[in-house]
Amino acid sequence: MASRIPGIYLIIASLDHPCRISTRSLSFSLKPGFYFYCGSAINSLAPRINRHFKREKKHHWHIDFLLDKAEILAIAPYIVADNALEHELAKLLSETDGVTGIPGFGAGDCDCDTHLFHADSLCIEGVFKRLFARQIEKTVKILRKRYLGIKTPVEKFRKPWELLVSCIISLRTKDEVTGPAAARLFKAAPGPKELMALQEEKIEKLIFPAGFYKTKARNLKKVAEIIHTEYQDTVPDDKNKLMALPNVGIKTANLVLADGFGHFEICVDTHVHRISNRLGWIRTRTPEESEKALKPLLPESVIREVNGLMVKHGQNICKPLKTMCDKCPISSLCLTGIANEIYSS
Ligand code: SF4
Repeated sequence: MASRIPGIYLIIASLDHPCRISTRSLSFSLKPGFYFYCGSAINSLAPRINRHFKREKKHHWHIDFLLDKAEILAIAPYIVADNALEHELAKLLSETDGVTGIPGFGAGDCDCDTHLFHADSLCIEGVFKRLFARQIEKTVKILRKRYLGIKTPVEKFRKPWELLVSCIISLRTKDEVTGPAAARLFKAAPGPKELMALQEEKIEKLIFPAGFYKTKARNLKKVAEIIHTEYQDTVPDDKNKLMALPNVGIKTANLVLADGFGHFEICVDTHVHRISNRLGWIRTRTPEESEKALKPLLPESVIREVNGLMVKHGQNICKPLKTMCDKCPISSLCLTGIANEIYSS
């Protein structure tokens, strides 16, 4: 299945000496430096990229002539079933400072002026970022459509106080348990003032069977006291202040800031960590590393949605132990599978 996945790719190569390459109808003088070539593979990305890596003898494309003389530094695949992106990539490169197009190179069969660009340095970080942002936005758009109207049992809690309390209850607890437990607690104690007035044993009973319910009850009471006395019953709109509360870590703080206050933050739970790595957006070992890697990567247009969508995707299709890739609406944008095929052969 992976070998039929279409996409575009960017080859980065270095040429250490001037050379002339000639095809049947065109001839190009190339000076030393770095070369960026953008190509597309409508039918199958993996074999196309393998072909470039292996530098097969059969030369008939412009890029074959160049790769015969240059050294491939990297090939970045973008698994997007959208050929217009190839033109966008060429446009992005042509607009990058320090990058110059080689007119006519490899563009005989499309509307682009060229597919090959020269630069004296590897100055295209911004191009990667913009291209990647486009791929992420496309993935989120598909997930948004797939999970439209589907709500998890905790999604009804949207106010900062509700988010804070329900997130504390949810630690190591399934949403199906957290939702009803939080609802019982809010019915008995809607705000910090009411919660701090409850006996610890009463809170335990209300949130049972949430995991670690005794510790959570103790901490929830303390959180309520702090929010009431230090912040006049208003959850602070500040990461450091939130993380100073008992039982509140970066994950809870980011969820409250993103969903409760509209900040551009990402709450990285096990679903976000796992799926972002499977998709190939990041390569990290822990949710903490993922949070640091994802924040600069995710466009503001989608960053606050990623947690909610990935939780649903992780519960329904991209499960921890058993993925259902054949039923996955974003399989054509996922690096799992195709990455192995590209890089292991
Ligand atoms: S289910 Fe498969 S194709 Fe879909 S995101 Fe997870 S690993 Fe990728």
